[in-house]
Amino acid sequence: MPNIVVIVSDHLATRAVGAYEESAWADTPHMDRIGARGAVFENMYTSCPLSAPARASFWTGRFPHQTGVLSNGLKGDDPRVVANRSVPEDMPTLGARFSAAGYQTIHFGKTHDSGALRGFEVVPPGERPSEKVPVGYPENSDTWKDTWAMNRFCEWADKGLPEQFLCVVDLQNPHNICGWIGEHSSLDGPVDHPIRPSELPELPANHRVPDWQNLPLPVRYICCSHNRAAQTARYTDEDWRYYIDAFRHYSKMADDHVGTVLQKLEEQGVLDDTLVVMMADHGDGMGSHQMATKHVSFYEEMARVPFMVMGPGVRAGARVDTLTSLLDLFPGLCDYAGIGAPEDLPGVSFAPLLSGGAGERAYVASQWYSEWGCTVSPGRMIRSARYKYTSYLEGSAGGRDPSGGEELYDLQEDRGEMVNLASDPTHRAALLAHRALLQDHLRKEDDPFYSYDVVVDERWRSHEAGYTHHRGPTAVMALNAPS
Ligand code: ZN
Repeated sequence: MPNIVVIVSDHLATRAVGAYEESAWADTPHMDRIGARGAVFENMYTSCPLSAPARASFWTGRFPHQTGVLSNGLKGDDPRVVANRSVPEDMPTLGARFSAAGYQTIHFGKTHDSGALRGFEVVPPGERPSEKVPVGYPENSDTWKDTWAMNRFCEWADKGLPEQFLCVVDLQNPHNICGWIGEHSSLDGPVDHPIRPSELPELPANHRVPDWQNLPLPVRYICCSHNRAAQTARYTDEDWRYYIDAFRHYSKMADDHVGTVLQKLEEQGVLDDTLVVMMADHGDGMGSHQMATKHVSFYEEMARVPFMVMGPGVRAGARVDTLTSLLDLFPGLCDYAGIGAPEDLPGVSFAPLLSGGAGERAYVASQWYSEWGCTVSPGRMIRSARYKYTSYLEGSAGGRDPSGGEELYDLQEDRGEMVNLASDPTHRAALLAHRALLQDHLRKEDDPFYSYDVVVDERWRSHEAGYTHHRGPTAVMALNAPS
């Protein structure tokens, strides 16, 4: 049976990965090597653009409403907010399946798994501060934890690799971008720029939001729910370019670690015999739609993730267009290794796609509940071959009038998702078709979407639309402030 290494990056956007050819500034030679020697998945979507729900989801192969891990955690004690659970004890996990099949299953780095890493030997995370920090790119525990985890990984590999292994290298970066924003908040006044403007990347073509009023309420007011959105709310164009530059920097740090993993496999003489998966839990706004990091929305930059695979049986240079989901990781790895996967998983094996096989899927789905429970705006995304459809409970009378909280983007004509067609009568047929796909999805997965409460104080929906109009605290800051 083949050995497998899964490298996970937290927050990595396709635009920051050279293999995706979406920007001139990406600087990820090691990830690109995986893409060139293997298959690049062009349409891979996370089941939730937020760390803890996404991770509990892909390690178990279930949607967040099935794992019970809906948010990163809870601040406050509003009884309407559904509490986060740990992954149920009897829910099968990827690690447990491979361990039972005789693999040494070992995990280095970021956990944030709510119990979903059951079956892995989890090497305890730690920190090793950097000795030298480049000017303009502050480092925090995200970067320090990666250094620690890579040292543990190298010690393990240098001892000689076991005969049969599934190894996960789980990187924090480029998540250090969140700390970078904390150090460069426009709430505190002008942002300091130690980098020369001529050296900064250009803004993405979909940076500006053309019509705030035509966006669902939770997306229109991310600045009031999410600290990082508030801290970037009054960024100038140059601030945004600096942000993208910093994102490139932290992505490069993750890429350096990817290079170390490949080098260790090469030194041990197993690189050509090992299946290597490079993926991310979710993406990052990258300045598109004036968004930093991720929150509530399902735009391509956040919901679509890098996913590349190289190894025995994988066709080099393959570009996989089939719609895929991170829920496919569990059944896909089982299929590739010849291990039985649980029969009721919602995902589909990606293994046939690796050798150039065709796949067909009508749609993939993604979910949002809340980041910390301070504002709760449940949402669902359906991505079909041509369109992306989103539906939020907020503004839709609990789902009885979906028109109050929908988006419809024609990705064939509008890759940047700039024009919301949900209220455009000429796209009525596509809208109704996607509403029907959502109903199909909710029924199939027994998804209690319409039973959730929307929990949003009206003061978080009160200022003139547009993030630049945001002033004062967010719902999270207000809850944390001493009364
Ligand atoms: Zn705001």
